[in-house]
Amino acid sequence: MGDTLVPPSGVSEAAAQLAKPRPMRRGSVSERFMKCGQRGCRCREDDQARHGPYFSVTRVVEGQTRSRYLTGEQAEVVRRQIEAGHEFRKHVEAYWQACEQWADVRLEAPEAASQEAAQKGGSKKPSARKSRPRSKRS
Ligand SMILES: [Zn+2]
Repeated sequence: MGDTLVPPSGVSEAAAQLAKPRPMRRGSVSERFMKCGQRGCRCREDDQARHGPYFSVTRVVEGQTRSRYLTGEQAEVVRRQIEAGHEFRKHVEAYWQACEQWADVRLEAPEAASQEAAQKGGSKKPSARKSRPRSKRS
């Protein structure tokens, strides 16, 4: 049947953290104040009079920068989604570390590993014994 390996509690906890789906994204939000093209607008000379803020979310996908404009409200949501993505990355890293520690433990405990192998093989005898005549037993 299935794998009888029971993960250590650290691995199970790390896995549980990964199994909590949330909307999340990669990238960053930027906030800009812009000059307009209108003649006579104060933004031309006065940085304080620039227009905005204008929000956008930017992400690099396969070497290409993709960005999209956002409203102020959307920018807040997107910031939280990006933060959720950062947390997910931490959880992935924690999961890796827990699994690697587990992997090290299995390297250093040959008995545990051989028990595991025995369980997987069930109670079947090694194939060499198959050649023994059965008639003697019955
Ligand atoms: Zn202007």
